[in-house]
Amino acid sequence: MDKRLPQTGLDIATLLAEPYHAAGGIAAAVPPIVQTSLFTFDDYAAFEARMSGRSDSPIYTRVQNPTVSAFEEMMARAEGAEEGIGFASGMAAISGTLLSLLAPGDRIACITHVYSDTFRLIETHLKPCGVEVTYHDPEAFETDPDLLKGARLAYLESPGSMMMRTLDLDRVAEHARRHGALTVIDNTWATPVLQTPIAHGIDVSLQSASKYIGGHSDTVAGIVCTSAEIAARIRAHALTLFGGKLAPFEAFLLTRGLRTLSARIAQHQRAADLFVDRFVSRPEVRAVHAPGQGGTLKGRSGLMSIEFDETVDIPRFADALRLFRLGVSWGGFESLVLPASVGLAQAADPNPMRHFGVPERLVRLSLGLEEPEDLWADFCTALDAARV
Ligand code: PLP
Repeated sequence: MDKRLPQTGLDIATLLAEPYHAAGGIAAAVPPIVQTSLFTFDDYAAFEARMSGRSDSPIYTRVQNPTVSAFEEMMARAEGAEEGIGFASGMAAISGTLLSLLAPGDRIACITHVYSDTFRLIETHLKPCGVEVTYHDPEAFETDPDLLKGARLAYLESPGSMMMRTLDLDRVAEHARRHGALTVIDNTWATPVLQTPIAHGIDVSLQSASKYIGGHSDTVAGIVCTSAEIAARIRAHALTLFGGKLAPFEAFLLTRGLRTLSARIAQHQRAADLFVDRFVSRPEVRAVHAPGQGGTLKGRSGLMSIEFDETVDIPRFADALRLFRLGVSWGGFESLVLPASVGLAQAADPNPMRHFGVPERLVRLSLGLEEPEDLWADFCTALDAARV
């Protein structure tokens, strides 16, 4: 897979391995954790220059912190964006972006099967505030050039994180530009290693950094990458007023995660390729949702879903697994399963699984960094134990 970044000519692995250089500071290879809320000024003139916008030194960690900035700059370079903005979680990134860019009376055109809490945010907060919402399958975004007529914003996921459906980003960006709509994509599945949406005309690429970026299941964070103009609007609202900022220690962990991102994605892909090749030997697996290289995607990450036929007792399968844990998150070192039947049973209302008709016999797999042959053996043993 050619992961060269168009704007630099360097492979993303090389870009993410570049040591940190602090301007005028000590030559630390790693950004120090600047654990402070406050930055002070030596004199009135320096303070006044900063407050009037004639200098850009940090004032207060809610809006700016050097450890966070180091992570934001690395992410922006990786995504080919002018700026990155760190957030306390992926949901803070999503809510901060949407609430900063939308106003009552606007229409948001949203992809179907959108991440569950994004769906709930839209349904329970944006709609009551007067934002009109329409949901569309990926094909409609591609084939209907007028779908975004009158829309303020298109909210996209490609691939999605449950049904893993993909979009032709160039085509959607072109339709959006024609109608003056902004495009926002959740790029968590792919990360910049596998997809750089901004190079395909998308305005905002955001992610839950709690998944592959952190990579070690020890950090909850979010990141938004976009143009300087859009970033200024998001910062002014989402950081200054809503306050969902990223903490310096979390930013340190995320920068550390970025160093190995490309190597980890390659290992996740090894496992995913092995599973996809071997599913044909298991007739109980009647459908596989595991997009790979093609279109704007440079390869396969470790997140996929499959549908079992009626011969599999899904709770028994889940309980028979030894290497896979049961859990909601993904993108870490450990392998996980999430049966859709658990999501469908979730009491939360509105429930996107029910709303979008996610199949009851769907099981999501997040393949971790274990040896793929060990994972496959565990999967097969559990499947044999779950026959009805
Ligand atoms: N986007 C996707 C696709 C997710 O799967 C998640 C979390 O599972 C989020 C966003 C939200 O991220 P966070 O948990 O960091 O708030």
